[in-house]
Amino acid sequence: MADARTPPDVDRAAASRRAVAARRARASLKKDVSMRVITPQELLRRALAEPDAPAGAMRVTEFLTSIPAIGEGKRDRILQELQISPVKRLGGLGSRQRTDLQRFLDERWPELQPRGGRSRLVVLAGPTAVGKGTVAAHIKAHHPDIHLSVSATTRAPRPGEVDGEHYYFVDDAEFDRLIAEGELLEWATVHNAHRYGTPRGPIERALADGRTALLEIDLQGARQVREAEPSATLVFLLPPSWDELVHRLVGRGTEGPEERARRLRTAKGELAAQSEFDYRVVNADVADAAREVVELAQAPARPLSRA
Ligand code: 5GP
Repeated sequence: MADARTPPDVDRAAASRRAVAARRARASLKKDVSMRVITPQELLRRALAEPDAPAGAMRVTEFLTSIPAIGEGKRDRILQELQISPVKRLGGLGSRQRTDLQRFLDERWPELQPRGGRSRLVVLAGPTAVGKGTVAAHIKAHHPDIHLSVSATTRAPRPGEVDGEHYYFVDDAEFDRLIAEGELLEWATVHNAHRYGTPRGPIERALADGRTALLEIDLQGARQVREAEPSATLVFLLPPSWDELVHRLVGRGTEGPEERARRLRTAKGELAAQSEFDYRVVNADVADAAREVVELAQAPARPLSRA
């Protein structure tokens, strides 16, 4: 007769498969924090929301050392200061420990806090292949009250693209004139190929009418808007994970190894820019991401819902 205390082999095998999967999921979350795909605050939020999920099962020691700039020495000092035992898991933190850890993270990364007096000029940027265009198109289709900027570009129209609707397609001479006459709020050469820029007039008119103006532009452009309009709201669109971004970037398998490597290097550099932004929104689902961007855009005085 089988000993009631010993689980049958099949259960043991299933349990060990589950343990391996959970370890992998935790490793992937740590990689996402260390590569700045998600913020430490986001990981902690997930852990507290679902203590039994992989984020909740992560030890506080692993969590802290996944944060860039925290080594083992610093980690131990932080735990001592916050009076958190190193064997604690994130999902098992007491309420005072949660609050202290959250406050510690917010103090160290103050750029994640909302800035006061943000304007209704909203910039949506993020790494290549994260789906900015799809999220912007979703907002345009569902929120006619929001003015989606139509950029000028020197690239040729693609099949189905309409002049004045998707872009203003202009030649080099016309683009030079727009720059010279100060008609562009920002402009940049994107992917070392064509020039793209945001016409200033329609944005100013939309803002004067009390509307929200949304710009879907690249990182260089986002930085210029920050310079020109420090009160603009900058939103960084993130992939749900690094692995998912890699999948979206190289998933089609049509690029050779060199092009793949180049794209991944570019994406890494682009992700590093997220700390310059006021908000991050994770694009796991287009409709959800669009809703979050609209909420951020339309309620400037609201406290931060997502780090
Ligand atoms: P596409 O050629 O695929 O439509 O766009 C290429 C890239 O240009 C996208 O990353 C998009 O965000 C960026 N882009 C589009 N319009 C502008 C703009 O007005 N200014 C800047 N800086 N980038 C833009």
